[in-house]
Amino acid sequence: MTIKEVQTTCAYCGAGCQILFKVDQEQNKILEAVPAPGRTNDGTLCLKGHYGWDYINDPQILTKRLKNPLIRRGGKGAPLEEVSWDEAISYTARRLTEIKEKHGPDSIMCTGSARGPGNEANYVMQKFARAAIGTNNVDHCARI
Ligand code: SF4
Repeated sequence: MTIKEVQTTCAYCGAGCQILFKVDQEQNKILEAVPAPGRTNDGTLCLKGHYGWDYINDPQILTKRLKNPLIRRGGKGAPLEEVSWDEAISYTARRLTEIKEKHGPDSIMCTGSARGPGNEANYVMQKFARAAIGTNNVDHCARI
């Protein structure tokens, strides 16, 4: 087995930690991630940097890539069914309204993401939580 080392920047959050991937060159597979010296990580990585890359080798590890919205019409445990965006948005709005009416706005929590959507989407999410739902239950994936 020939192992190649590839230094790159962790793609999970905005900290910009440097990672050294050890790659099996014949199979083009990442075997291990270790910290590389970087200005922000100083020889360390968090758990996401250490272990959160295994989906690259097998995209089925966590969940299959979603291509359409899915709903469990039968409730918890029922199979997921593909639906249109219009149906998914109507369903979600109806369920959030029902939950808010039954349990109050603080029974709902919204979370933003550091990964792809950018500041604007996170701004809209907190605005939705506060102005539409009526809760300050807003958090961020960095605290996971
Ligand atoms: S803090 Fe963790 S997730 Fe963020 S860049 Fe560094 S290793 Fe990646």
